[in-house]
Amino acid sequence: MANPSLLILAGDGIGPEVMAEVKKIIGWMGAKRGVRFDVSEDLVGGCAYDAYGTPLTDATMARAQEVDAVLLGAVGGPKYDKLDFSVKPERGLLRLRKEMDLFSNLRPAQCFDALADFSSLKREVVAGLDIVIVRELTSGVYFGEPRGIFKEGNERVGINTQRYTESEIARVARSAFELARKRNNKVCSMEKANVMESGILWREVVQEVHDRDYRDVQLTHMYADAGAMQLCRWPKQFDVIVTDNLFGDLLSDMAAMLTGSLGMLPSASLGLPMANGRPKALYEPVHGSAPDIAGQGKANPIACILSFAMALRYSFDMGEEATRVEKAVETVLADGVRTADLMGPEGGTPVSTSQMGDAVLAALDASL
Ligand code: NAD
Repeated sequence: MANPSLLILAGDGIGPEVMAEVKKIIGWMGAKRGVRFDVSEDLVGGCAYDAYGTPLTDATMARAQEVDAVLLGAVGGPKYDKLDFSVKPERGLLRLRKEMDLFSNLRPAQCFDALADFSSLKREVVAGLDIVIVRELTSGVYFGEPRGIFKEGNERVGINTQRYTESEIARVARSAFELARKRNNKVCSMEKANVMESGILWREVVQEVHDRDYRDVQLTHMYADAGAMQLCRWPKQFDVIVTDNLFGDLLSDMAAMLTGSLGMLPSASLGLPMANGRPKALYEPVHGSAPDIAGQGKANPIACILSFAMALRYSFDMGEEATRVEKAVETVLADGVRTADLMGPEGGTPVSTSQMGDAVLAALDASL
């Protein structure tokens, strides 16, 4: 059988620096675990604009549609700020998300014990936290029509429309249930069915999908405002949360920040299953290209490494190898290895990007 295929788009700024550490881990997986990938690499963002005059070529787009998973670093930088909107680096990323129809955005909030003191919440509330927010990404109030600022009598009115079809709700619900089956079999769906018709439909459809195909998964419903409260009060009560585009935007940022540094946060965006049963998928750290530290070996590669671990788990059904990578990161942090962004007030000497990658490799070796 052919090896699973990966397209690496390292992008701009710290993107190539953090991706270099992921490539070491991909090499390690082949050499030490016999897990081999067909890896191809290409350009996205500002570097693609420099080379081709566009942030994403048609050829790269076509390749992204073919592979089993895309791994992206970051795009953008001050050098490109004055470019026309149509060729800005971010347009490359948006094109990937749109044309691959990545409607399900997975944002984990995972708090490693060693970093629990970085959270603004009490240690016991966040230590060991491991939840995922599934946000619907391609519909809802950010896309619904009518939208705009209109004149009504002698004043202006701003309008956005929350609109969800049954099929849009059903597919993101499925994605959350499938995810829960690979985790702790628990989904909480959040909406505002008390005040919004789209919320009533959301709740009904999620329940229908559950009752038809996912009775083995425990499903609860919660109003999104109560959900926000519960996320602060006791986030460990959740496993997978599924919610719409707007609430997901807020709740996933809030949940992610329960855990500390931007340099730690991975993400996945999933679409419909391809012919081989794997979902279309793009994995990327939540952070951007960090121009303020680019080229200095200061970037924390963990968000990118954990994004690769998500690919192992959610695209390739290699949960054991994903856990191995996550545990290696946990060990390294517990040993006190820190990049500059993870230095607490007590100070110390930070390690470089590649030293952090090497420490993770050493922990992987020790796991055998
Ligand atoms: P940013 O995430 O790049 O940086 C915010 C702050 O966090 C900076 O101080 C940076 O040094 C720090 N930081 C980020 N990642 C880090 C890491 N791995 N290790 C250590 N420190 C890290 O956000 P920004 O400064 O608002 O944006 C910079 C550029 O990135 C802009 O061009 C923006 O458009 C782009 N951007 C791209 C993406 C993406 O590619 N998905 C996401 C956000 C921003």
